[in-house]
Amino acid sequence: MGLIDERLAAILVCADCHGDLEELTDESVLRCVKCGLRFGVADGIPNMIVADATRAAG
Ligand SMILES: [Zn+2]
Repeated sequence: MGLIDERLAAILVCADCHGDLEELTDESVLRCVKCGLRFGVADGIPNMIVADATRAAG
């Protein structure tokens, strides 16, 4: 089972570069495969606000 509804996951893209997102279940984040931005997920609701997203170091 994913972090978010699979129908939602199918349409969501990175709010910054519109790249595809992958779910990191252990960390409850959606990570952009293109730019690496990480969007937090709380109770199945992804926070797609770029200002709230973080970039992994390195
Ligand atoms: Zn991106």
